[in-house]
Amino acid sequence: MRYISTRGGAPAAGFLDVVLEGLAPDGGLYIPEAWPELSSDELRAYGRMDYAAVAADLLGRFAGDEIDKSTLRHMADDAYACFTHAAVTPLKQLERGLWLLELFHGPTLAFKDVAMQLLARLYDHALGLRGRTATILVATSGDTGGAAVEAFRGRSNIRLVVLYPHGRISDVQRLFITTPEEDNVHVIAIDGVFDDCQAIVKSLFQDQGLHNAGLSGVNSINWSRIVGQTVYYFTSAVALGAPHRRIAYSVPTGNFGDAFAGYVAHRMGLPIERLIVATNANDIMSRMVETGRYARSPVVATQSPAMDIQAASNFERLYFEGVRHEGVDTARAMRAFADTVVIDVPPSAMTMIRGLFRGAGIDEAETARTMVATHHSTGELIDPHTAVGVAAARRIGRAAPETPLVVLATAHPAKFPETVLAATGVEPAPPPQVLALKNKRERIRRLPADLGAVKSVVREVMGV
Ligand SMILES: *Cc1c(COP(=O)(O)O)cnc(C)c1O
Repeated sequence: MRYISTRGGAPAAGFLDVVLEGLAPDGGLYIPEAWPELSSDELRAYGRMDYAAVAADLLGRFAGDEIDKSTLRHMADDAYACFTHAAVTPLKQLERGLWLLELFHGPTLAFKDVAMQLLARLYDHALGLRGRTATILVATSGDTGGAAVEAFRGRSNIRLVVLYPHGRISDVQRLFITTPEEDNVHVIAIDGVFDDCQAIVKSLFQDQGLHNAGLSGVNSINWSRIVGQTVYYFTSAVALGAPHRRIAYSVPTGNFGDAFAGYVAHRMGLPIERLIVATNANDIMSRMVETGRYARSPVVATQSPAMDIQAASNFERLYFEGVRHEGVDTARAMRAFADTVVIDVPPSAMTMIRGLFRGAGIDEAETARTMVATHHSTGELIDPHTAVGVAAARRIGRAAPETPLVVLATAHPAKFPETVLAATGVEPAPPPQVLALKNKRERIRRLPADLGAVKSVVREVMGV
């Protein structure tokens, strides 16, 4: 399996290089040259396999001959052993035809764990084969940082540096990042907002000296994270009757990684009837789907902070698919967006996109009302991100009345206890992952939002 860049200006690369590099050298995102396709019999067989076995099988289709089957199986078993539900990502029925797909049974209670646990094993394996070590730098708006710390702590060939905006993430999110004791984990609180952290990380990635010394990233554009997120579309769809039946999904969306994984599953032959792009007030992706215009507005703070994003990195992959792999066109559109903050998606690309996607932007009041109504009618407490997905599912619905509609439940309500309590009057009971954080010492270095200051800490960590 070969991977090409969405900007058409980089040589094709193999799977392990794509895992280690993240971004292509021309600034584009990697995508497979051709989609692997599954037959109906192969899909049906997934119904008789456990989650880790499906994950290993899917990964194998993207890794080609670069990793052998037994190694993949071992990685997947190991990655999902730390999940607290035997099904890894269980389905829960809310009402007739409407389901939650619970993606929050991992160590940090958000769906980022599902792919990050797998990525860490792939990364470790790739570094081992290349005889290399790496320093991974992550900027987080809350959930990615904790997932990365859990996945990479204690690995001898990896150092991890996490930047988060001081005072702007929930207490539970912060404790997942700051309490691990392993000394390969380094945490920096930045006096600024998430965009400041992101800008510093992007500048450091462009530093050729640091790149040569092994600095790299695991953000949501890393192709192996997308692959890890396709797995639960397959397991859930097959459990609800695919390939015989079509299934619709509503996906709480920020960087468009999770929703794009649904598109990938669809291209691989999974009969997805509809993908609903559910956003909060930061609605750049849902507006694009509805109007054909991808236009950035200022970021506003919401109750669902993991989706407070106004430039969805994975949109570039969808655009590239929409313009039938025209790298030159994609590069031109992305460069123009950097200047004008607008892309008008060509009509032929919109025809492809509208064939599968619908979009809905959910405001703060509707998010809170949805938490209340869901608790009232089903007894389930849902987190604010999941509530955006449920609200969008109710607004848009499925195309055919008999189609099961599945909402991706992206975080555990106990990860956002204040918000859930404020909306519903009920405090979610803390699961063991949260109780274990009590009375632990935090290790944080606090720095101004200054590139030079962060760079010197990163150099110190890397020993260069
Ligand atoms: C990251 C995240 C999202 C958004 O996922 P994307 O892949 O960035 O679209 C939604 N909900 C939660 C809880 C998250 O952590």
